[in-house]
Amino acid sequence: MATPLSADKLLKALRDEGLHVVEHRSWRTNNRNHKGPWGPTHGVMIHHTVTSGTASSVELCYNGHSALPGPLCHGVIAKDGTVHLVGNGRANHAGLGDDDVLRAVIAEKALPPDNEANTDGNRHFYGFECVNLGDGKDPWPAAQLLAIERAAAAVCRAHGWSQRSVIGHLEWQPGKVDPRGFTMNSMRTRIGKRLGGAPDGPPKPTYEPFPGAAFFKVGRNSAIVTAMGRRLVAEGCGRYTVGPGPAWSEADRRSYAAWQRKLGYTGGDADGIPGKTSWDRLKVPNV
Ligand SMILES: [Zn+2]
Repeated sequence: MATPLSADKLLKALRDEGLHVVEHRSWRTNNRNHKGPWGPTHGVMIHHTVTSGTASSVELCYNGHSALPGPLCHGVIAKDGTVHLVGNGRANHAGLGDDDVLRAVIAEKALPPDNEANTDGNRHFYGFECVNLGDGKDPWPAAQLLAIERAAAAVCRAHGWSQRSVIGHLEWQPGKVDPRGFTMNSMRTRIGKRLGGAPDGPPKPTYEPFPGAAFFKVGRNSAIVTAMGRRLVAEGCGRYTVGPGPAWSEADRRSYAAWQRKLGYTGGDADGIPGKTSWDRLKVPNV
């Protein structure tokens, strides 16, 4: 069971564990497989980014930088607990570590000290980078710790591993300090408990709350308008020649009027300006 998970299997495992997952750009084909082997996989490695801000941290982990090309991990775990997938395959996160540690991870035994850097970890470990400055002061919100627990458990469950297959970068490579702010022993205890039960199942999708009728006016430019338009098209109500796009337009109004008529509204109640009841029934995904 050490064959790397396919992109679909990794995504499903994470979602089934209850995680909100975002697929970032072309993460499915973003890897370093042309530079070295990927697999067999033996464990999960937890890191902190030494950055702040979700969007810039995700982009950095996707691209890497001149001295260290991306992807820098497989998933970035944001402070709100969202997992942003950035890589699928070999990733630049683990570097050289201790072969005795790798043997202990494979055997799922207690870890020896990491005092050698003689073994390619990028080949054998999934990596999760957690957004944190790593200064010992930046907090680790409960939602983020829960997401680390879930993400690691998801991969372990998919492979049939125990919590002993989850290590911190600081347990792999001499000189590393990440993750800093919680102990890997406490995290492994949480993961072990989770693996003793059934997965939580996929999270319920969340939808944009009704922003108010006054939101929908010419001059409005918002991702909510695009998301609304996509849902209207999916419902067979699209009246677009181009788009849908973020700028509220007459095509949006006509499309929304078609949705109102589909719900049974007539006359002035189908004027194409969203109301709360029809909006809630449209289920516009969170943007
Ligand atoms: Zn690290």
